[in-house]
Amino acid sequence: MILLFILNITVFEAIVDITIPGPRQNFREILGEFCQSRAVTPVSEALKQHFGFDSLRGQQAEAVESALAGKNSMVIMPTGGGKSLCYQLPAMLMEKPVLVISPLIALMKDQVDALRARNIAASFINSSIGKQDRDSRLKQFVAGQTKILYVTPERFRKPEFLGAIQGMDLGLLAVDEAHCVSQWGHDFRPEYGRVGEIRKSIGSPPVMALTATATAEVEVDICEKLEIQKESVFRSSVERNNLKVQIMDLYGSDNKMKTMFQLLHLDKPAIVYFSLISSMEQASNFMSEQGLVHSMYHGQLPEKIRRKTQESFIKGESSIMLATPAFGLGVDKADIRQVIHYELPGSLEAYFQEIGRGGRDGKETLCTLLYDGDDIATQMDFLKWSNPEAEFIGRVYRLIELHPEKIKADGYDYLRGELNFYNRRDFRVETAVGLLRSRDILKDWKIIGDFNIDEWDPELRLTRTRKQNEKLLELVQWVQNEEDCRLASIYKYFQGGEYERCGICDNCVRKNETES
Ligand code: ADP
Ligand code: MG
Repeated sequence: MILLFILNITVFEAIVDITIPGPRQNFREILGEFCQSRAVTPVSEALKQHFGFDSLRGQQAEAVESALAGKNSMVIMPTGGGKSLCYQLPAMLMEKPVLVISPLIALMKDQVDALRARNIAASFINSSIGKQDRDSRLKQFVAGQTKILYVTPERFRKPEFLGAIQGMDLGLLAVDEAHCVSQWGHDFRPEYGRVGEIRKSIGSPPVMALTATATAEVEVDICEKLEIQKESVFRSSVERNNLKVQIMDLYGSDNKMKTMFQLLHLDKPAIVYFSLISSMEQASNFMSEQGLVHSMYHGQLPEKIRRKTQESFIKGESSIMLATPAFGLGVDKADIRQVIHYELPGSLEAYFQEIGRGGRDGKETLCTLLYDGDDIATQMDFLKWSNPEAEFIGRVYRLIELHPEKIKADGYDYLRGELNFYNRRDFRVETAVGLLRSRDILKDWKIIGDFNIDEWDPELRLTRTRKQNEKLLELVQWVQNEEDCRLASIYKYFQGGEYERCGICDNCVRKNETES
């Protein structure tokens, strides 16, 4: 602790001495010479004054320093590590405003409320508020009355929004959940993929990309898109040796449901992840029959209900959460004791991010993957559906163009019927519509641009599909490996290098038993 403190002080002193040439502000000018003569540095003073904290954690100091120097940077820190402070603290020390792009609508309000409670002029703009409110919030930001503004990626790329902020001198553009920017990431979002391009169109303000998970490849991709230098990537180690990983080979849903039921101890917070809403519902019915109280969270539930469910889980009013991967981004709960995967996820990144929501208090947390080889097929379907061919997207486009009245009445159901997609799980139509919207060809259901098949690179689609297949294969190999330490192989996958065995995963336990 003391060492950390000393280290931080050293870094602060280094910060005070930075002199940045050119138009960027000189740090000493911003803070005033007088600060130097005092033991307390401006950064630690602002940290205490605005946030009430005594010292920075992990690589927060490096990230803050980089932002204050006007450099582009990337912060890779586990969930709960304190990424927000990396852009919030510089915002308090800079005269210029900070714009934050975040895909997490559900959390924006909480973040802004927390900042306002600290007397920081923060605001957000997303689809949950009315047009009038959105306009006035944007006006305030442009007029310099807002220090930190949160927006969704959809909002960020809207011409009205970009037009309004065009002439602004942003101190920092923070891109939260930045792994969504990279198409090699496990959670790529097309509307996020263009952030780099749009940033350039508004004069390339200094940027800070933040994420909890990024493989080396995703890191390189984000750095390229956002013009970040390798030396400005601040990566904390992903090691989480309190996660006790075990894999159980099971066949069929009956076995899975029984095992899941045995694993869930009442009154201990647990998340059970599902790939399919249908199997979640089946498991939920089984649990209800057994009298096991639980909540459900998935994308097809109304926003209001999702929000309520999430809140009651965080507050500890409910302790078992059945969820799709949509649950958990940004969920701040330290004492989750168990994470069960009812079905195989799509990649090691997705898996590690999901189990990483458990045991953030450092206490041992059981992470069980219920493995049925048949689940691989489900994931392969997902891959196919999330990468439709250009020709298919063209068909969707023409149907919307030719039959606006039918689209208006039945939307996706109409498209599905016309394209003979009777499998309700098949989400190819949704993917196609999402892609058309992200390229500004479609706005809601209105055609606003042309579809030109030559603009859809078939190579890129193939490379992407191949890559995702490789990731799935890597995960399956990891599952089937019965020798290597589960966690050590994940760390190696993420950041290279060699690691000591965790000693508690199923493979480590088996090894210890055979050796003794
Ligand atoms: P992340 O975005 O990395 O998941 P957050 O930014 O939400 O994490 O921070 C998680 C929690 O840690 C918050 O409650 C925040 O106030 C707290 N926190 C962040 N930095 C510090 C610090 N230097 N000292 C004490 N608490 C901190
Ligand atoms: Mg965060």
